[in-house]
Amino acid sequence: MVGDLKTNNVKKSANLAYKHKIARTSFSFSVVALLVILYLWKQNNFQVHSPIVFYFFVAFFFYMFISSWRELLKTHHPCPYCKKSIKIKYNWKCDHCHEQQGKDRLIVEKCNHCSEKLTNFICPHCDKEFSL
Ligand SMILES: [Zn+2]
Ligand SMILES: [Zn+2]
Repeated sequence: MVGDLKTNNVKKSANLAYKHKIARTSFSFSVVALLVILYLWKQNNFQVHSPIVFYFFVAFFFYMFISSWRELLKTHHPCPYCKKSIKIKYNWKCDHCHEQQGKDRLIVEKCNHCSEKLTNFICPHCDKEFSL
């Protein structure tokens, strides 16, 4: 019984807002890190004691840059219930001011009109509500 309640009534979360925030932060961080490396390189200020460590850092920030960029460009995300792919970038209607966005925007972004964010979303495949 308790198990039934847990699986049926607890609202799942897509963790989309959290993932987007992490991707945005690591994107900016890696861009800054790569620019600093590039700048120091051009200034010839680099005293590379250990080239392997240097290349490791370049590769690390480059990987961080590419992966966060790809995350930010994603237009689909799996539903936490049925795992089917949901469109997360489209001209959505705001829950607060009931206005359309006017262009394709991510559902985790702030509304164009009232600056509020969507908190819940209903899967178009299984009709279950989950939090963003
Ligand atoms: Zn679903
Ligand atoms: Zn709004």
